[in-house]
Parts: sequence; C-alpha cells; structure tokens
Amino acid sequence: MANLPHNNFSQDTLALHAGYHYDSQRTMSVPIYQSTAYSFESLAQAAARFGLKELGNIYTRLSNPTTDVLGARLAAVEGGVFGVPTASGTAAIFYAIVNCAQAGDNIVYANKIYGGTQTLFVHTLKRFNIEARVFDIDNIEASLESAIDSNTKAIFFESISNPQISIADTELITRIAKKHKIISICDNTVATAFLHKPFAYGVDISVHSLSKYVNGQGSALGGAIIERAGLNELIKNNPRYPAFNTPDESYHGLIYADLPLPIFSIRILTEWLRNVGATLSPHSAWILLQGLETLELRIKRHSSSALKIAEFLESHPKVKSVSYPALSSNPYKKLLTKYYTDAQASGLISFEAKSFEDAQHICNSTHIFAMVVNIGDSKSLIIHPASTTHSQLSTQELQSAGITPCTVRLSIGLESADDLINDLKQALG
Ligand SMILES: *Cc1c(COP(=O)(O)O)cnc(C)c1O
Repeated sequence: MANLPHNNFSQDTLALHAGYHYDSQRTMSVPIYQSTAYSFESLAQAAARFGLKELGNIYTRLSNPTTDVLGARLAAVEGGVFGVPTASGTAAIFYAIVNCAQAGDNIVYANKIYGGTQTLFVHTLKRFNIEARVFDIDNIEASLESAIDSNTKAIFFESISNPQISIADTELITRIAKKHKIISICDNTVATAFLHKPFAYGVDISVHSLSKYVNGQGSALGGAIIERAGLNELIKNNPRYPAFNTPDESYHGLIYADLPLPIFSIRILTEWLRNVGATLSPHSAWILLQGLETLELRIKRHSSSALKIAEFLESHPKVKSVSYPALSSNPYKKLLTKYYTDAQASGLISFEAKSFEDAQHICNSTHIFAMVVNIGDSKSLIIHPASTTHSQLSTQELQSAGITPCTVRLSIGLESADDLINDLKQALG
C-alpha cells in the first residue's frame, strides 16, 4: 500500500508516474499483480496486518499492488491524500455514502445527478433506512441549509451533472457543509481532475466513475473514492460520525479517529471492501491506468469538439435549445469560467428537440453517433434519457432532474468534429 502521492509535480506528469515504484524487474508498464492473496513472512506479521498495526497486503479484496498504484495516481492527480479504487462508480458512491451515514440518518443530494445515483439514493438507501433529501443545485442558498438537521451525514453533488450538464457552485456548497461540519462528496466523473479540482474548493471526498473519461474507450468499469488532506480533523470528535469515534468491534475495539492515517479511506478498505467486496480487479486497474496516461490530452479534445458541435446545434432550426456550459448563451458560463481549467466543459451536450418524435428520430438516424447508455468513450454516443437512463423516474422526478421527453444527450468522442456535425445535420433532417 505505497499509496503516497508526490505533490511537487504537475497533474500531467503525475498521471504518468505517481504511485509506481519499480519492482525488481523495473517494468515500465505497471505490472498486473494477478494474485488473490499474499504470503506473510511470519505469523507475527500476519497478526500485525490483521490488527492494522502494520499496513500491508493480506487479500486482494482489501488491497492489491496494481490497484494501489491506480488509487495513488488518481489521488495525486486530483490533489488528494488517498484514493481507493472500487469495482464501479456506483460502488464508490454507495461506499462513500455508507461510510458517513447509517440507519436513521439522512443525506442531502443535488436534484440534478446521474439517474443511477438518484435511484440508489431514493430507492436503495431507503431499504437501509437512510433518508435521501434533495436540494436544488440552481438555488443552493434557499434549499440546502433548510434540508440539513443533526442527522445529516453527507452532502452529495456532481460538479458537472450528467445528463443535464449543470455546473455546481462548489464553494457555495462546501461553505455550508463546513458550517455544519458535514462531509461533502463531489462526483467529478464528467469534469475529471483535469478540468475541475474539487479539493481546491473545499470538497472533502471526490468520487468517480472511471468507466467514463478515465478509461476513455468504453472497455472497463471502475470507480474511485478520493480523500482530501486533513479530513481527519473534521471527523475526529464530530458527533455526526460515531462510527469513526467509537470502538469498532470487528477490529478488537479499534477507534478509527485515533489512527495516524487517512481514516475515511482506511475505513472504506477495512469495512466496505473487506465486508461487502466490490473490489476492482487488478486487470481492470491496469486498463484504467492506460487511460489515465492520456486523459489530459483527450479531455481537451472532447471539450473543443463539443463546443464546435454545441454552436452548430444552437444555430439549427430544428433544435429548441442546447445545454453546454461553454456556450456564451449558457447560464453556467460564469461558474465554468470560475471553476474550470480554461473554461473547458468536457464532452457532454444535451439539447431539446422540438418534439418527442423528433428526439426519437434523431437518435435513430445517426451513423457515427452510436445509441449507447455511456459517456466518455473515444467514439461518439447518443441517447434519449427519458426512455433509458431516467426511465425509472416518475414524471415529477424527471422534471426535478431537468429532463423532458424531448431531451437528447450526446457524448462527443474523438472523431473529426466536422464529420460529427455532418452526421447530426443529416439526422436532424
Ligand atoms: C456512469 C456514472 C456513474 C456510475 O458509474 P459506473 O461506473 O457506471 O457504476 C456515476 N456518476 C456519474 C456522473 C456517471 O456518469
């Protein structure tokens, strides 16, 4: 678990080097440690590792050298202190939430988020007796503070929301979170660490689906939970977080808050990966490391092509409106300029067709854009959220999530922007 980021280098350098120390073979590619378990040198060492007195590998459900490089590298690139990869973005979000909240507690989440996360919060958390309360990402001051009470354990939002493409006012949210000493969790999947740095604006935990831009080719699932420096101080002796401040019976009465380690992350490993087990495979970790190496270059190209395409759509008579934060007409342009590298807005665009039928027709008529419920692929994708990703939501939930039957979402790939514009032109008819 040599999970220490090197903070002196720029993000692009860290994405290629952080977290990897040559093994005896000095391989340039991070080795895939395809092993389920590890041999202890002695029974004393085994006992020390089980008691968390010595950090080290025990079993791959908890840690693995290949996966550890990915976690360390992601943390370094985002400016955090520790990164824990998980089997998917969904697992990362679930673990981050249940690391804060237990039965009888509540969390507060932004109305505009990924459909799967919304379903997890509203339906699945309810079965665990964790209440999910919503706040309005476009009206934070009026809606966030009033949703908070003494049982509120986390505030969750997406930096760029998928699929509505709204931009969160990160500092405004984290100021309220800090005032109430509540852990803030930002899903930074769409922006990536190269466009938005949540920790620089007061976020405590960032979560990612690595299945999207980090992978970049639609070839592996993965997630990550990344912890900011100094989070222990917020958690220690904080009555909101008894699980960190009272003895853990499953670890011989260990009190997490007493450990000289990033305790949020350590408890993700020792409680959630150990006992629930949505661990990333070493092979997938290696695939995701390949993607991370080129992420900076790719996210720039996704962003510049998306801006060209958004401008084209905005000028098209069959398009009612376009949501892309880098457009000068977009209400989020100011927040984008404040919080995002060179005001780049990633590769997601959503637009409103003139009718439900038109939206369906467009989705059925593209040649390059593939009809796929994914984002962040090098290939361009198109989807109709109301029929697919958001079909589980009620009409009211859809409205609150900012989706209509006419919404079409695009994920702009790395093809020629001109070819993509021509493809949309013919599909719009
Ligand atoms: C895809 C996605 C998720 C879920 O990630 P998986 O890796 O598919 O489980 C969570 N949040 C956002 C913003 C996403 O786009």
